[in-house]
Amino acid sequence: MIEFVDPPDETWPLGSWGWGADCPCGTSEYRGYGRATHTRWHMDWATGLHVPVSLECQAPLARVTGDSPMPDRKTAYRLGQLMRREEGYDFCLLPDPVTWKVHQRWPVAYLALWRERAIGLLIVGQVKRWGWNKPDAEGYVHFDQREPSRAVAGIFVCANYRRRGVGRRLVELVAERERVARDEFAWLMPLSDGGNALAASVAGDGLRLCNSVPWE
Ligand SMILES: [Zn+2]
Repeated sequence: MIEFVDPPDETWPLGSWGWGADCPCGTSEYRGYGRATHTRWHMDWATGLHVPVSLECQAPLARVTGDSPMPDRKTAYRLGQLMRREEGYDFCLLPDPVTWKVHQRWPVAYLALWRERAIGLLIVGQVKRWGWNKPDAEGYVHFDQREPSRAVAGIFVCANYRRRGVGRRLVELVAERERVARDEFAWLMPLSDGGNALAASVAGDGLRLCNSVPWE
């Protein structure tokens, strides 16, 4: 059964490297990374990462925790870094592969695998408090729901594979694996435009939001 999709033949072109022109991958010579570094990051961002054998056997969905082999943790962390760079976060949402604790319950990193490459990442946690996406008159969401909820802390799909339903399929597979309905995930704010559209399409009317994800 085909779980994910073939990318188009072309690769995302490297962005303009002039002053003030950042590449969509979030890395550019302009920011002082150098051409070789940018090219490497950009190719990973566009086409995904070669996966270690230990992960390949789990295709199409690999589960990575602090108990996973080091190469698996490194692959998950690298995807987390690609997401961080593109979105401009200050920090990676996954622990460093060296300090990721054994037996740590959360976060769990789920990797979308396609033809020996990791092409997507979904980071799952658990929240004690969340709110419905029904802002009040001032536009504030009230995080007043107290039953624990699985949370999507971050989702990333490599650029060549976007707009092909990979993110949605990833959410569905992870929901199955976590034994929750796909509309029961709380989504960590702030969401990007793409994340917002995906969350809304998966959750339908009842979108759950959260503003912090405890990791243990
Ligand atoms: Zn780039």
